[in-house]
Amino acid sequence: MGFCTKRAILRMRRGGAGLYREYLPGPRFSSTLPSESARGGQSGTEKSATDSSAYSTIASSLYDVVIVGGGISGLSLAAGLKSSHYTSNLKIALVEGMSLASAKSWSPDPDRYSNRVSSITPASQRYLSQIGVWDHVYAERVQPYDDMRVWDGVSGARIHFDAFHLGTEDGTIAYMTENLNLQHALLSHLNDSPSDPPVMILDNTKVEAITKGQKFDDLDLSSWPALKLSTGDTIMARLLIGADGVSSPVRQFANIESRGWDYNQHGLVASLDMEWDDRQRIAWQRFLPTGPIALLPMPDGKASVVWSTTPKYAAHLKSVSAGAFCTLVNAAFRLGMVDLEYLMSRVDEEDIREDFEWRDARLPIEAEGQQFPVRVVEVQEGSRASFPLRMRHCDTYVAPRIALVGDAAHTTHPLAGQGLNLGQGDVVSLVRVVEKASQQGSDIGDEVVLQEYWAERYPVNHVMLGIIDKLQKLYCTDFPPIVGIRTVGLEVVESLDWVKKMIMKQAAGA
Ligand SMILES: Cc1cc2nc3c(=O)[nH]c(=O)nc-3n(C[C@H](O)[C@H](O)[C@H](O)COP(=O)(O)OP(=O)(O)OC[C@H]3O[C@@H](n4cnc5c(N)ncnc54)[C@H](O)[C@@H]3O)c2cc1C
Repeated sequence: MGFCTKRAILRMRRGGAGLYREYLPGPRFSSTLPSESARGGQSGTEKSATDSSAYSTIASSLYDVVIVGGGISGLSLAAGLKSSHYTSNLKIALVEGMSLASAKSWSPDPDRYSNRVSSITPASQRYLSQIGVWDHVYAERVQPYDDMRVWDGVSGARIHFDAFHLGTEDGTIAYMTENLNLQHALLSHLNDSPSDPPVMILDNTKVEAITKGQKFDDLDLSSWPALKLSTGDTIMARLLIGADGVSSPVRQFANIESRGWDYNQHGLVASLDMEWDDRQRIAWQRFLPTGPIALLPMPDGKASVVWSTTPKYAAHLKSVSAGAFCTLVNAAFRLGMVDLEYLMSRVDEEDIREDFEWRDARLPIEAEGQQFPVRVVEVQEGSRASFPLRMRHCDTYVAPRIALVGDAAHTTHPLAGQGLNLGQGDVVSLVRVVEKASQQGSDIGDEVVLQEYWAERYPVNHVMLGIIDKLQKLYCTDFPPIVGIRTVGLEVVESLDWVKKMIMKQAAGA
């Protein structure tokens, strides 16, 4: 295929999405948009030659879709669009500021687990299967669970969910796996699936600025976002997707307001070894007044802890010895808040262990594995890390030629394991909307087209973010009247299977 002519560009501009394939040369980037002299002051063959080369330069920098962010949302969106008959011919670029090389070539070490793990709901897993990504996931690094035990750390009131409440065939509540496993699978899928044109992945490339495009004679790109990349190149998008996380530069360019608050909690994560491996399919969560602690099963007798706590405790938990850390995790599932606070004030490993053993001896042995998890015996070296926790929700997810997905649109507390899954829900919806527009020959960047995506996803996400936020606030206190109310509430819910079924259905993303 030769270089684009001006005529071809004009035809392309009039056409719907996906027509670029016919006219555009392979992706080549250039920051050189046509100069003043290229747009006037010449005549005859000289002008037409300059025009032709200027337009071909523009053409190579134009994309149907530019996705900023190579996290799970951005990669899933690229995979989703490429898997659809109606959108597989779109010219897509994905820009990621970090290197994706280690995720792409990831070959898991059986003795080590990454500390960034997620619970994937059956709905997210189904979608990833449907678009062919799940086949690339390392199955031995996935741990499904079908039992969830949650309790109030102050009153001891409990709620128990199992396969019965989910009502699905295999009864899986969620699948635990490393984020790296998903990222690797998405990259492998994009690499292995033949698509024409393939997704242009530009990693190690930061979006430094976003401006509006320009008008070139009768080619009007003034409504197209133009992205200045750290490589010096500029690319333009018919539809720009912000999958660029909580600080989303795309959202800032679109002037979309994001509202919310910080929880003044940090999510401390670590990869753990358990004492024994007989109850691998249970997820545990205990709500402490300083924040919930969750122990999530991983394969091979391993587990992952997500301990949401005060920034001070998070710093302390990262600084104590490995042995002291394991004891403190065990204590957080077993002891009362006063005992736990006392242990948290100590630093000496032996002191902490002896004190814990003495207090733990009062607990019934049969409660182990039933009311709280078996003991943690080791924490993987270098796996302790913490992240500030916050709630954010954008007023809208769309603007002309722009859509936001995943954490760029909403960020939530990890207590319900929903952040990534809500992002997957966004992807499913946006792919469907772009598919429909492509099928109908509409402009995929048209805000009217994109409104359907926002209208579908905003209410769903709003409800889930609201529930999670209320739960976080309800359980972050030991004020007796509140403890009394929430205890009665939890006991009532525990006794009503139909309510538990409704909760599980919502959490599973059904
Ligand atoms: C402790 C913890 C536990 C969690 N557990 C769960 C769980 O169990 N289940 C669940 O569903 N969710 C969970 N979450 C939430 C989940 O991790 C996030 O919702 C999810 O990873 C967000 O993915 P994303 O792709 O939308 O954003 P991100 O992963 O933030 O990706 C954004 C990407 O954009 C890139 N980027 C940003 N700016 C630029 C730029 N200018 N140029 C180029 N690239 C750029 C970044 O480098 C990044 O790679 C948890 C979160 C935390 C903190």
